[in-house]
Amino acid sequence: MSYRNFPMVSKVVFGRGSFSQLGDIIESKRLNINAPFIFLVDDVFKGNAWLTSRVPLAYNDKLYYVSAAEEPKTTGIDALVEEIILRYKERPSGIIGIGGGSILDTAKAVAIMLTNKGESKDYQGWDLVNNPATYHVGVPTISGTGAEVSRTTILTGPERKLGINSDYTPFDQVILDPELTKDVPKDQWFYTGMDCFVHCVESLNGTFLNAFSKSYGEKAYELCKEIFLSDNLSKEESEDKLMMASWHGGMSIAYSQVGVAHALSYGLSFLLGIKHGLGNCIVINHLEEFYPEGVKLFKQMREKHNIEIPQGVCENLSDSEFDVMIDVALSLEPLWLNAIGKNWRKMITRERLKELYQKM
Ligand code: NAD
Ligand code: ZN
Repeated sequence: MSYRNFPMVSKVVFGRGSFSQLGDIIESKRLNINAPFIFLVDDVFKGNAWLTSRVPLAYNDKLYYVSAAEEPKTTGIDALVEEIILRYKERPSGIIGIGGGSILDTAKAVAIMLTNKGESKDYQGWDLVNNPATYHVGVPTISGTGAEVSRTTILTGPERKLGINSDYTPFDQVILDPELTKDVPKDQWFYTGMDCFVHCVESLNGTFLNAFSKSYGEKAYELCKEIFLSDNLSKEESEDKLMMASWHGGMSIAYSQVGVAHALSYGLSFLLGIKHGLGNCIVINHLEEFYPEGVKLFKQMREKHNIEIPQGVCENLSDSEFDVMIDVALSLEPLWLNAIGKNWRKMITRERLKELYQKM
């Protein structure tokens, strides 16, 4: 038995207002004045001087606003990398992603593709990256995905939705400033927050569970219960805690795996473009048989916050469309192995998955 040797984020800052330290933090990483820092900023912050005036631009540094309307695609990553390579004489000093999971994943993927040949779709999978990435920094502005701490960057490619999982993927630096999440709309707060909750449910109920994952998963699960079910927290406390829950949830799955909800949610996302957090909510609603306690709590949280979860998203799909989703879900073998165990193929048939999708 060989145990995984897991890379982690090298440096991390936590604190309300810590975003203002970004300039000081990256200064020593500037290679020379022609090697810019590239800031990839969620376009929801366009015209928001509170945030953008603190982006420390100098020399040839450049800020690109990136839309999070759709999850990152390999084609979008390749286009951004080409634009950066053609525009500058020198390769960048660093890539700084400021936004939600979509933007953090974009920053990680761009940093990898600046130092690795070919197209990003060639690296979707496990341990296919050869060269260390460009220095990259993650600044989350919404909490839940764990993308700030994970070893993957999830991309939709021509054939599949799959991460670039590698030792070079994690950020070199993360800035956790919960204040940046203050204007997240309530529905989105819930959907992305539930991504964290679902990570914990899947990790804690999986066959891969071990003391490492459990210690992080239990902490994040408790934090989620407090954030989404108690009335005792101020807005600031709740923001602080959700940012740390996201981190711990990410650490929990780092050393285990996600499960049934993510497998089915990837199918919804691939066929219908439903985003990760919302997709997990649509799916988990129907998984009592797999995660009875988690689903019960999820429903309480949804009711308490009066969040609408879309119904009937699979209503008008053809058989071949169901097949596409089922193929995507079944291809995620490690998730099923974790959720069910090595005999998963006996339990998880195409018919069973179709029945589940038909309920959504
Ligand atoms: P997101 O990045 O898709 O953003 C969701 C919405 O929130 C967007 O409209 C965005 O503009 C908005 N938003 C973000 N910050 C805001 C703020 N401070 N104020 C107002 N609006 C704000 O959301 P997400 O749920 O964080 O990320 C989902 C993505 O993360 C998916 O692409 C998914 O595949 C990926 N993901 C990655 C990992 C990983 O380990 N790499 C894990 C889970 C999910
Ligand atoms: Zn997730």
